[in-house]
Amino acid sequence: MNKKTVRDITLTGKRVLMRVDFNVPLKNGVIQDDIRIRAALPTIQYVLQQKPKYLVLMSHLGDPKKDTQKAKEKAEKDGKPFDGAKYIEGKHRMKPIVERLSALLGRPVKLAPAAIGDETKAMVDGLGNGEVLMLENTRFHKEETAKDAADREKMAKALAAYGDVYVNDAFGSAHRAHASTETVAHFLPAVAGFLMEKELAYLSKAIENPAKPYVAIIGGAEISGKIDVIQNLMTRVDALLIGGGMMFTFCKAQGMEIGKSLLEEDKIDLARQILETAKAKNVRLLLPTDCLVADKFDNAAATKVVPVKAIPAGWAGVDIGPATVDAFAAEIRKAKTVVWNGPMGVFEMPNFAKGTMAVAQALADATKTGAVTIVGGGDSASAIAQAGLANNVSHVSTGGGASLEYLEGKVLPGVAALNDAK
Ligand code: AMP
Repeated sequence: MNKKTVRDITLTGKRVLMRVDFNVPLKNGVIQDDIRIRAALPTIQYVLQQKPKYLVLMSHLGDPKKDTQKAKEKAEKDGKPFDGAKYIEGKHRMKPIVERLSALLGRPVKLAPAAIGDETKAMVDGLGNGEVLMLENTRFHKEETAKDAADREKMAKALAAYGDVYVNDAFGSAHRAHASTETVAHFLPAVAGFLMEKELAYLSKAIENPAKPYVAIIGGAEISGKIDVIQNLMTRVDALLIGGGMMFTFCKAQGMEIGKSLLEEDKIDLARQILETAKAKNVRLLLPTDCLVADKFDNAAATKVVPVKAIPAGWAGVDIGPATVDAFAAEIRKAKTVVWNGPMGVFEMPNFAKGTMAVAQALADATKTGAVTIVGGGDSASAIAQAGLANNVSHVSTGGGASLEYLEGKVLPGVAALNDAK
């Protein structure tokens, strides 16, 4: 990474403004997983050791407008009452996060009433030496995500007024050009934190200089979200393994019947093209040969293992089968670089999780024999945690969308905006 980091600037006596990604899952105000908070601790602790004037932290938390609309529609459909203010309180306010951060840091962390505004500015100005303040959810302000650059700039300038330097450690939000992730970096000296640095170091290894054999495993529900990453990785890897719901569109593209399995009708041609390109370029693209089918989309459904060529009508594929698990695991165990993005089946249901758990185990085994193994964020990160193997791979990314875009070869705006290292 040719960007400046917190190591490259003086922080002592400075007013430090830092973007983190504390977008953690919350249920009724209770944190379900605090890995993103823990992941930012090394940078926060380093900044505080440098004795800054103060540290102001900011993050988004969910998407208040979109989430509320969705929850309201669901409540209406279920005929249940919906209290918008209470929903926001339990899902989008930073209070539980500030409490967890304070406990993890072992020092008080103040909470501002908003990200910008007179009251918050006064609170920031009143901070004592070495104090830590967290701003309220940046996405409560529409300027944060505004399409119009002038609107984003308005908010970014208000944020920049809190600091002498800007630190971005929010890798999980680096693919978004928002006021607090990108725009603000144009108004202050802007450097990366340690998490940002570490994420980019691992992911760039997989993009620029992978030790071979290099194996990528792509899964998840749909091809549409992963097309670019499939195309970009296809020319770099020694083998590309495809599982998850998207495998069935590839099966269909080869003329197979797939019963009630997930199908992206409008992506069949694209799947066919990918198969042809793989053939033309001599890429080893491995598709499952067998799968687990269920008669219902339910953990208690009747299930059986069938060859992908013989999926019975009325049944849906919900996981890769044992022969595929063996073939995929063998590829992964031989590899020296492994990138994994997307589950192999509906792993949220324990009876459909075997394939995903086996891939997680194969990654752990490959790591033991010296491979660099990288798990893209989102569902694959949950899956490796569910397998109890999060500490047995080289790197679990805290950013689902961000890691995917990086692997697609895209520039992350939050990174691009930081100051270049000399
Ligand atoms: P994505 O966000 O595209 O990575 O998709 C993750 C989701 O794909 C998870 O919630 C899985 O339950 C789902 N998924 C994986 N395999 C299947 C499948 N065979 N059928 C339906 N959904 C699947």
